[in-house]
Amino acid sequence: MAYRPEPDRDSRPWWERVAGHEFAVQECVTCGTPRFPPRAFCPGCRTEEWRWLEVAAEGRVESWIVSHQPFLPGAREPYLVVMVRLAAVPGCLVYGNWRGEGPPAYGQRVEAAYTEVDEGAGEGLTLVNWKPAEIGNDHSVENSPTGRP
Ligand SMILES: [Zn+2]
Repeated sequence: MAYRPEPDRDSRPWWERVAGHEFAVQECVTCGTPRFPPRAFCPGCRTEEWRWLEVAAEGRVESWIVSHQPFLPGAREPYLVVMVRLAAVPGCLVYGNWRGEGPPAYGQRVEAAYTEVDEGAGEGLTLVNWKPAEIGNDHSVENSPTGRP
């Protein structure tokens, strides 16, 4: 059990894409501004028309919280929710459960970990959680001293 967003009218089509392991944001047809989370009109020019723009589900860890107060019955373990700055959409932060082995680090590169959860009543939901990026973190020591004189 963990952080669990609820799809609403504006975001339901997005969740349907996530179920297919596709990460998309809205793109304004007038000014091309990408936006997330889904909303009815462009915050820049107020155009209502938009199209889906599929983007890489990756970003960097901005911050995180550890919840010791589970809000779901039966959830006992504290869980960690990370805030990720999306690489594809400047200024966009998304939340998700942390799927790393160890604690996250500020600025760490991460990628989506799609996780299916069972509703129990038949309707499943796919969550976007976050895990360390499989490529990229090898270079996390690139600024360390190499030992060369
Ligand atoms: Zn616009």
